[in-house]
Amino acid sequence: MQTTTALEYPALVLNRSWVPIRTTSVRDAFCLMIRGAARAVEPETYRTYDFDSWTEILAKEHEPHVRTVRLRIRVPEVILLTMYNKVPEREVVFSRRNLFKRDKNRCQFCGKRPGTSELTIDHIVPRSRGGKSTWTNCVLACVECNARKGGRTPHEARMVVRSQPGKPAWKPHFTIRVGEFRQSWKDFLSEAYWNVELQE
Ligand SMILES: [Zn+2]
Repeated sequence: MQTTTALEYPALVLNRSWVPIRTTSVRDAFCLMIRGAARAVEPETYRTYDFDSWTEILAKEHEPHVRTVRLRIRVPEVILLTMYNKVPEREVVFSRRNLFKRDKNRCQFCGKRPGTSELTIDHIVPRSRGGKSTWTNCVLACVECNARKGGRTPHEARMVVRSQPGKPAWKPHFTIRVGEFRQSWKDFLSEAYWNVELQE
């Protein structure tokens, strides 16, 4: 385990009330701990440690760690902020995943739920006519309805969009990139898990 790599590892940041609010790098996590703004959380025991006491726990051989001349410092995977207690609001990202979630895997023309592999994203005003990829112009359509509609507007195709599409009302807490997720975060994310976007 190279020190530089371990410092770039992601760490989950909890606010003072243990609500996950973002991720950061281990490097930043250490900075926050040294400043006294955060404590490392031992994910199994939920015990918290300031920087000095954290450096006294020896990293096991297989665990990610940062090596100094004297110490092998275990990499914190979860940190708890000591002062900050807000939950920042974030906008829902327009993404394929979120569009499927908003439309509940349902074709917005015929209302069927044929399974995700049989669903496509339809541009209400077709892209060939300047239609944008936005919350208000995109809906799920089954393969059949999509073929029927073709490059036309619903009006031209004599089809009806079941409900006025818009931006989802839910607010994600933060974004976790695929590949960044760590097993030890699971317990801390369980409550907020469905609000977390896995950005691809
Ligand atoms: Zn359909």
